[in-house]
Order: sequence, then structure tokens, then C-alpha cells
Amino acid sequence: MVTSDNRRTTVLNACPHDCPDTCSIITTVENGKAVEIRGNPDHPHTQGTLCGKVKDYLDRVYSPNRVLYPMRRVGPKGSAQFEHISWDSALDEIATRFQKIAEEYGPEAILPCSYLGHQGLLNGLTVGDAFFNKLGASISERTFCASGTSTAFLMTCGPTHGTDPDTFTHSQYIVLWGCNVLTTNVHLWPFIREARKNGAKLVVIDPVYSRTAKQADWHIPIRPGTDAALALGLMHIIIKENLIDTDYVEKYTVGYAELKERVSKYSPKLVSEITGIPVQDIVTLAREYATIQPSVIRLGVALEKQAGGGQGIRAICCLPALVGAWRYLGGGLLQISLWPFPIRWEVLHRPDFIKPGTRIINQWQVGQALNGELGLDPPIKAFFVYNCNPVTQAAEQDKIIAGLSRQDLFTVVSEHFMTDTADYADIVLPATTQLENWDLMFSWGHTYLTLNIPAIEPQGEAIPNTELFRRLAARMGFEDKCFKLSDEEIVLEVLDWTAPVLQGIDIDLLKRQGYAKLKINPIPHAEGNFPTSSGKCEFLSSMAIDSNFVLPAFRQGCEEYQPGSPVDPLPTYIPPSESPQTNPTKAARYPLSLLSAKPHHFLNSCFGNLSKHRKLQREPMLIIHPEDAAKRGIIEGELVRIYNDRGSFQVIAQVNDITQPGVVVAPLGYWCKLSLAGNTINAVTSTTFADLGHAATVGDSLVEVSLVR
Ligand code: SF4
Repeated sequence: MVTSDNRRTTVLNACPHDCPDTCSIITTVENGKAVEIRGNPDHPHTQGTLCGKVKDYLDRVYSPNRVLYPMRRVGPKGSAQFEHISWDSALDEIATRFQKIAEEYGPEAILPCSYLGHQGLLNGLTVGDAFFNKLGASISERTFCASGTSTAFLMTCGPTHGTDPDTFTHSQYIVLWGCNVLTTNVHLWPFIREARKNGAKLVVIDPVYSRTAKQADWHIPIRPGTDAALALGLMHIIIKENLIDTDYVEKYTVGYAELKERVSKYSPKLVSEITGIPVQDIVTLAREYATIQPSVIRLGVALEKQAGGGQGIRAICCLPALVGAWRYLGGGLLQISLWPFPIRWEVLHRPDFIKPGTRIINQWQVGQALNGELGLDPPIKAFFVYNCNPVTQAAEQDKIIAGLSRQDLFTVVSEHFMTDTADYADIVLPATTQLENWDLMFSWGHTYLTLNIPAIEPQGEAIPNTELFRRLAARMGFEDKCFKLSDEEIVLEVLDWTAPVLQGIDIDLLKRQGYAKLKINPIPHAEGNFPTSSGKCEFLSSMAIDSNFVLPAFRQGCEEYQPGSPVDPLPTYIPPSESPQTNPTKAARYPLSLLSAKPHHFLNSCFGNLSKHRKLQREPMLIIHPEDAAKRGIIEGELVRIYNDRGSFQVIAQVNDITQPGVVVAPLGYWCKLSLAGNTINAVTSTTFADLGHAATVGDSLVEVSLVR
């Protein structure tokens, strides 16, 4: 809390959304009602601004369409016909159905499903894990986003925060690689702007001439899914022209000889053929990147969403060590800054509750799981959804809807609004917004810990997710202490407050200030000190050699992930699984590569139902290059159908050369029921995994586009 008088109070909050910026927020409350929300001007990174998605957050909190009471379905599945019921009735029904299903089929017939609809340590990704692990439910593997990037980064650099984004002001050469900062990481932009005032050059590598690319000194359009080839080609030139930092490589890296051999075949000519980038541009980029220091790379999550995305990120992660960029303030690489937060994931996740051998089902394949296509025994009989909206966000949308329509499936959804998924629920539960609950927020875009204090009473009968699972645990007779901790007790338990990065930081400071910067080294790898098993940057990955990939528990819900096939310990180029170059048979029918872009005015599917945001985002659309449009007789503003063997969706064509010939771009986040023909982009995306971390290959789909007449 900041200030208070008789009528007005200001309260410190933190944005809960799936965004790297985790803004510190000040909410003004008058007579128990939140009347204003604004950015906290004191926060050194987010600096008092909120993005367009969240600045009208009160519209969300006080929306007349919010789910405010528990409800039971009274019409056919999907018809969105519900009646209000009491919390007691809802909890009784859930507990009774769960017990019956567990007796009849075993508890693995129950499948939870959650993602980053809330990013808080209390109410976010792992809040229900202890409950479902105690129940013995199937484990829901969560690898939608950053799982491939994180695996590749951990294999190469270990769990380090990398370059502190606050130090980007010192950079002289900034490469935004597959990252549309002005839409998805807006609070990094002032640091980039400052660096440019100091003479830095900004390079954007992106298949699309994005908002950010338009502001860059140099935009390098790349063929989708070929980033690994570019990174290997850059290393080829850097080594051949002796632009490496020999001292750094000798002292602080592993596997240089093997890497040199590997990149020797990636000549500029070959790389140009693969990536579509002119030879001279590849050479210029390599020379500038190696010689203008400090150079820094900001990696976007988009890169992992291709068949070879993981190895692409591995290759990019090798670059800063090769040229010694880690030596400098503002040099190196920023993947996600989450790693130094001393989070005790086990407090909410409780891996000790998991019975050995409990099956794991990846959420990206939830349509197949619900439809019985994975050969699951027992089949899924109950589906419990919170913090996510799989109908719009997971692949094979038609299969998810078919699965949710099954009469024998018992579905529970905890939500703010009646989403496309909630429409198919048997029971809908009301969840609090961030102004109504406690939380503690890490960030994956900066290194500040942020506290969220409730500003107002919960609306209607909404409850925080923490309370939801406390109530469910009590109904199921779970007596463990973890199910009885209050929110304020969880705040104290969920971090290792003795960790050196939290020195001088305690809960009282957070309550006064709202945030605190972790005590981290701003030049973490000036002298190596990589938290890998060798202590060095691993061009040659010991994790791959051991075939023992340990992913953080919050990503997947289980302790260990063994890849099905051996992983190359050296970075390599794996072509896209669907592209005209690698799959000409498929491309003969579906010649266009489809990219799924983050929308500017929605956050994933959050805000996709609010009228102000929908107006700004405009109708669902597809960006198609003029050459591709002309071939199909498509003109700007016409209704088009995008399709492949997996399904189809309809949108308005935007004919624009911000994309390349052969590449079409459609933003995600639109809701099916508010779309033009009841489907969205995930009707056509594939459930195939990328090479590392079970990442979703959402950017690796071939489609055809035709006019709807
Ligand atoms: S969505 Fe991101 S940029 Fe927008 S307010 Fe939340 S944390 Fe800040």
C-alpha cells in the first residue's frame, strides 16, 4: 500500500499477464472501488507506463460479462447455457465426480490443464499441481512457450539471467532476433532507444517487417525456420576471418574445435540459399556483430516454434562467447531473465506427491488426448482447466472441440469470462482478477521481484486460485500442510529468502515499495562462470552427451524429460518440417508457410473478448504478400479461407509486402465464437513437437489461401 486517506487509497499491484515486462502498477481505490490504474513511475524498468493491453484493466475487472458465481451447465455442451449454483454445490459435485472417476478408471483419468493466463507464483502455472499430484491425476506437460528456448539456453549457458536488460543502454550493437519488442516486450524499448542515442546500431532479424523492424537501422528478412543456418553461417565467417576472441574461447568455452569443424560447411553461399538472405548481408552482419562491442542479442520465443528451433537457439547462444561479447557491460545475450529468481517450485508443485510412472500428457496434444487418439488407458474422463483457454490456444482446434463435446467427459473451467473453452464446461467457477488477490511475481524480461497486494474485495463470489485448491483439497480430505497455507504464508514459503540475490530484500520492503531488484552481477560472464556442468559456455553440450535433459519443474510438471532420440551435442541446422524447400509434395497442395504472430492488442487469448481491444485489433486477418494475393485473385479486405488437411479458418485479407512471398501471417488470440466462421488459426497448426523441449511447432505449417465467394 502506498498512501491512504479516508476515501482514497493507493495500492501496489503487478501485472499478472504472460509478458516479460511484469509491470509494477498503482491502483487507486475510492470507497472500495478501483477507480484508476497506472504504471508505477518509481519502477526503474517499467518506468510508469502500462501497455495498451492493460491500461484499461478496470474494464476487465468490472466487465458486466465477468463470471462472478459458480455455474452448472443446463443446456447442450457448447451452448453456454448455465445456472447459478452455490460454491458448496460446485465443490460437492466436483469432489463426487472425481472420486467416482478415480474409483472406476483410476485417478489418471483426470487431466488438469493450466498455463500462463496468470503468471504469479501463487495463482499461476503451478498453483494446482500439489492438488492434482496428490490426487494421482495425469501430469499435464506444459511446453507451449519458451520450453525449447530454455532447453537450448540451459544446454549452452546454464541457468543464468544473461545480459541484464537494464544494461542494454551500454550496448553498441543490438540484435533483436525473432523478437517484436514493440508488441511483446515494450519496456525494453526505452533502453534500446537510449543505447541508440549513444550510437548503437539496431538490427532486427525477422521474416516479417514488424513494428519493431520498421524502427530498426537494419531489418534482415529471413526465411522462417532457417535461423540455425544463419547463426552457423555467421560463426563460419567469424572463425574464417579470425574475428573470434581467442582468449575468451580458450578460457571459457568447451568444444571450439568441434564447433569449428561443424560450421565449416555453412558457407555464406549455402546459408544464403537456405535463408534467402543475400551473401553480402550475411558477411556484413558477421563482421559487424563480431567487431562492434558490446554486442547483445535479444532472443525471441518465436524461434523455437519450428522443427529445428531448439538447435537454432543453441547456435545463436554460441555467438556471444565466440566473439567475447560477455566481457562487456551491455554485451552478451538475453533469453529469459527468470533463472536467478530463487523460486522454490516444489512448494506448489510437490513432486514428492507424484506416484512413479504417472503418465504425462502434453497440452499441445490435448485434442488427441480428449478424442482417444493417443490410445490412453484409462481414457480421459475429467478435464480441469484454469489459467488457460485450450480451444483457441492449442493445436487441432476441431479435435479439442470434439473432445470437449463428449457426453462422458466431465469438464470444469475456472475463469474470468465465458471463453470458447468455458462454453463446454459442466461446471464453471469464478476466478479473481489481479486486483482482488495476493501474488508474488517473478519476471522473464527483467530482474525485479514484484509484490501484488489486493486492492479491492473479490467481485461476486470469485476466489483466487490458491483458495480454489484449498477448498478442493479440503473436500477431497487432503490433510497435508501445503493445502492449509494462507496466501501470505505461501508468499513466505515460495522463495528462498536466504538466497544471495535476495540480500536486503524482505516482505516489508516489498509491501512498502512493491518491487525490488535482485542482487545480480551486471556482467555475469566477464570471466566465464557459466552455471553449466563444465562452468563454461558449452558449444559441445554435456547435457546432450549425457542424454539427460532436466527441465525446470514449472515447465512440465515432472522431474525429468528424456528425449526419445539422441540430440546432437553440437548446434546444427534442422530444416522446417513443413516448407516448400523441405516438403515439396505437401507444398504442391499447400504452398504458403503460415506464421502465427502475437497480436498487439490481445495477450494470447486474454482481452480477445473486450470490445475496446477488439476494435483496436480489428477483424481477424491474414497478411499476404501482393504477389501471392495476385496469384489467387485476392484483393485487400476480401474474406479468405486458410486451410490444410488439419482444418480451416476464415479471415479478412490484408495485402501487404511486410511479409515475404510464400509467407502468410495471422495473429493469434481471437476467440472462435467472435470470429468469422467459428475457427481461428489453431485449426490448422500441427501437434508436432520441435527438436528440443517439446516446443510447439506453431510456426511450422503449410497452408493454402483462397477467396470465400
Ligand atoms: S502486459 Fe506486459 S507490458 Fe502490458 S502492462 Fe502487463 S506486464 Fe506491462
